[in-house]
Amino acid sequence: HSLKSILPTMAAGKKELLMLENFIGGKFLPCSSYIDSYDPSTGEVYCKVPNSGKEEIEAAVEAAREAFPAWSSRSPQERSMVLNRLADLVEQSLEELAQAESKDQGKTLTLARTMDIPRAAQNFRFFASSILHHTTECTQMDHLSCMHYTVRTPVGIAGLISPWNLPLYLLTWKIAPAIAAGNTVIAKPSELTSVTAWMLCKLLDKAGVPPGVINIVFGTGPRVGEALVSHPEVPVISFTGSQPTAERITQLSAPHCKKLSLELGGKNPAIIFEDANLEECIPATVRSSFANQGEICLCTSRIFVQRNIYSEFLKKFVEATRKWKVGMPSDPSASMGALISKAHLEKVRSYVMKARAEGAQILCGEGVDQLSLPLRNQAGYFMLPTVITDVKDESCCMKEEIFGPVTCVVPFDSEEEVIKRANSVKYGLAATVWSSNVSLTHRVAKKLQAGLVWTNCWLIRELNLPFGGMKSSGIGREGAKDSYDFFTEIKTITVKH
Ligand code: NAD
Repeated sequence: HSLKSILPTMAAGKKELLMLENFIGGKFLPCSSYIDSYDPSTGEVYCKVPNSGKEEIEAAVEAAREAFPAWSSRSPQERSMVLNRLADLVEQSLEELAQAESKDQGKTLTLARTMDIPRAAQNFRFFASSILHHTTECTQMDHLSCMHYTVRTPVGIAGLISPWNLPLYLLTWKIAPAIAAGNTVIAKPSELTSVTAWMLCKLLDKAGVPPGVINIVFGTGPRVGEALVSHPEVPVISFTGSQPTAERITQLSAPHCKKLSLELGGKNPAIIFEDANLEECIPATVRSSFANQGEICLCTSRIFVQRNIYSEFLKKFVEATRKWKVGMPSDPSASMGALISKAHLEKVRSYVMKARAEGAQILCGEGVDQLSLPLRNQAGYFMLPTVITDVKDESCCMKEEIFGPVTCVVPFDSEEEVIKRANSVKYGLAATVWSSNVSLTHRVAKKLQAGLVWTNCWLIRELNLPFGGMKSSGIGREGAKDSYDFFTEIKTITVKH
């Protein structure tokens, strides 16, 4: 299979750098300049990513514009078949893609194999199916001899911008609904993790995706990202990333009144009531705090525990956290790999230092325990899962998104108090509630300011239902119907008979 040949190049590391190319109009095109991409587990440059700009966006817009009439005229059934073939090809290349994702991002190979890449395939498969099941509306006004009905049309060229934490997973979560609905796309993955998007391009022709339907342009946010967002012929932008970038994207798209979907950060609380089943709650909360090195927008970073079980919870939680092994991403016994970049590692560590300076206690992890790594990985961006306590709600560790393996644990007394404290941050993405009292979980879930609430579990997703955040966690939702709404225009037609 074509993707197999990529792996030896990647394994050669320093000697032979992996050179990515843009994919525009069905062709791989070199770029006039490149940026370095690092292997997070060694800190070495192993790949060169095109440093695209306006010129490449112009070319991609042209290709997407040309491809649009034919693609948008195909029936949903025909588009669905293409998406299903793409899902098959991603599944067939699962191992190659998982290895590449793990090397590029620093996540464990186990996670890439069991979550990231299967989900990327599922995204195509899911939208291949869901596109077949939408209906439009029709109403009548007999007294005026009128009937009204709605039609849906694709919006046009969709600009898709994705982050580095779940690279192929989040990119395909945008590409799949956009093309299923008949749009053509220009996608810009994160410059820190571009490899699997480039590998995906190698599968498109075989899947039957016509040239120009999916264009992938690589490079940095300020250069190529802004060129995409500001382009007048790209009327719809779907963005997943940080809140400051969303602010910039909103400003740039305002003059064109673009349709925007913004999936942003979180400061997600876990609320653990005294009647919670700790046997289930503790391992799930360790996972929700530290999975993917804590680099998931849905990760828990504030744990509120009811006071009479606080000491017991804390003791068991720290014990369980200490068992999470940080290691080489390829090590099957590792629960955590490396963080994405040196700059990010330093940022995450700085939060732990700030907490300590404020008088908080660091119970395990950064600055407390020793991290032992093979010689080759000592310049990698590793850090231990870290638990902070005795921290005030006003502390930056309890207010700001850290996006790393750091979680705070604090006690609470009453239901009313904990809801208020959980809601006291600017974000509103996800929350978890642990209790064996069903009416309590429903009551609390309803009052939490979060787009997603999991009770007695974490990160179980039903792709049909809306995904997204409130407050500074974003605008809009993604999911079967929501993505369809976003990637189509609706028109109401009135017929007098
Ligand atoms: P980021 O905002 O720095 O970058 C995201 C993407 O935007 C990248 O492709 C980047 O190159 C691009 N970008 C940066 N500046 C840009 C600009 N001026 N114009 C256009 N594009 C620009 O975010 P990140 O650090 O890659 O990702 C981490 C953030 O993403 C966290 O805040 C995390 O919570 C959030 N996130 C949210 C979700 C969600 O579904 N809500 C999922 C994953 C990650």
